[in-house]
Amino acid sequence: MKTLIQASTLNALMLGNFDQTTTVKEFLHHADTGIGTYTGLDGEAIFEDGVAYRATAEGTVTQMKPEDGVAFGTVAEFDRNVPEHTFSNIESLDQLRKELEPYVKDNQNIFYLLKGQGEFTTMHVRSCFACQKPYPTLSEAASKQREFHYEHVTGSLIAVYCPAYVEGINLPGWHFHFLSGDKSKGGHVLGLSTNNFTFKLNPISEFSLTLPSNPEFSKLNLCEDLSAKTAAVEG
Ligand SMILES: [Zn+2]
Repeated sequence: MKTLIQASTLNALMLGNFDQTTTVKEFLHHADTGIGTYTGLDGEAIFEDGVAYRATAEGTVTQMKPEDGVAFGTVAEFDRNVPEHTFSNIESLDQLRKELEPYVKDNQNIFYLLKGQGEFTTMHVRSCFACQKPYPTLSEAASKQREFHYEHVTGSLIAVYCPAYVEGINLPGWHFHFLSGDKSKGGHVLGLSTNNFTFKLNPISEFSLTLPSNPEFSKLNLCEDLSAKTAAVEG
């Protein structure tokens, strides 16, 4: 059975627990596709075809090394032998979320991993700057995030759908990251439009969670309802 592998919890990240949870090598041992962020909140992670990319707040993309650290993320081994779907005339990220509803409505209580290629008329992404200890909260770090607006860019969208009941552990609903085809641009998607988007979807009903082992993690109150703050930062 296909497993969604997660490092840390979203509330731990929200509270500023940006230490390494696992290494790129460990994280991608049984996975090749997904999203997340690196140690110190250093950029947005896009895992594509088993390669770990980092979309930086400088607007560049670098490749991570096997020994580099992942603070938070969600990955799986993507099954390409599934039907392909195409959308045209997508004018916003909200519309894309709406068009994806029929694909998850039969079972909204499992996870989905999406991988797609598109020609994006517009692409609005953000990345966060690396933080030093003592770490700020994610809301504080995100207040200094850099945003980039691209036009007529081709590339990949990698997205994770989480069921509503994982609130606090991951982001309920869809979470999209972008990587351009030439691997030079990317980030956490805040907005987009496309006339040609082709994607495949993997339903996933097994979940594996690795928790951080740094001492600060053991002291965090992970029951706090951070849903409004999470929506503001990640939505
Ligand atoms: Zn993100």
